[in-house]
Amino acid sequence: MDCWHCRRTAVATCRFCGRAICEDHVQVHPYILELFRSQDTTKALVVEDAVFCGACTPRPAPIDLPELD
Ligand SMILES: [Zn+2]
Ligand SMILES: [Zn+2]
Repeated sequence: MDCWHCRRTAVATCRFCGRAICEDHVQVHPYILELFRSQDTTKALVVEDAVFCGACTPRPAPIDLPELD
């Protein structure tokens, strides 16, 4: 696979959208692995440095999908 930005050989794939990224363009972005409720608060298990392409726009938190209920 080639880098989304410059077409060089990619070394990683964006955790959020799946675009391929080379070592010059790879970025990191916090990624929420899991949400869980603990007493009265909702906590998130977060990976601080998940691979990020810089081209997509991950939301800071998951969105509700009420239409799937
Ligand atoms: Zn690149
Ligand atoms: Zn991405």
